[in-house]
Amino acid sequence: MTVPAETPADMVIERQVNEAIASGHPLPRWGWPQPPPYNGATGAERVYVWQQNRIGQMLGLMPRLGTCSACERRKAEGSHGEIYFRPFALHPVCRSCHARIHRRYGSPGTWQDFLNDGTPAGSWLRILPMKPISRVDALEIAKRPDVLKALAEYSAALQAGKSE
Ligand SMILES: [Zn+2]
Repeated sequence: MTVPAETPADMVIERQVNEAIASGHPLPRWGWPQPPPYNGATGAERVYVWQQNRIGQMLGLMPRLGTCSACERRKAEGSHGEIYFRPFALHPVCRSCHARIHRRYGSPGTWQDFLNDGTPAGSWLRILPMKPISRVDALEIAKRPDVLKALAEYSAALQAGKSE
């Protein structure tokens, strides 16, 4: 007899939200321009994840935001999702850190300065890849139970490839 693998907490929430949508929970209205693609997810997919997240909040399924998980100083005002194909694998972040995370591909030097001066040594920010993740790779990462661990391995492989 095999022991069933434990479902990651974010996937439990995702299932509950998808069930709510399937039973007719209305999708909250997105009132802004469509966002650009990020790490292989289209703008439309990102909007849908935002709607899933909002429903999760409305149903009281989301953990409390608390302090920003990036700077560990300011109050978190939202959440960062690195892999949109795991819509509830989220990191609470303040507005300032969130903007920096999304700008990192375009300004790696500024990002490196921020990592060195503005973030704790063991921060999850340090495992984020420095190149946009392709859709194929993002879908592969999303299959792994521990998304952060998968991202760390992905980034390490990327770094190793670069130094050859
Ligand atoms: Zn912050």
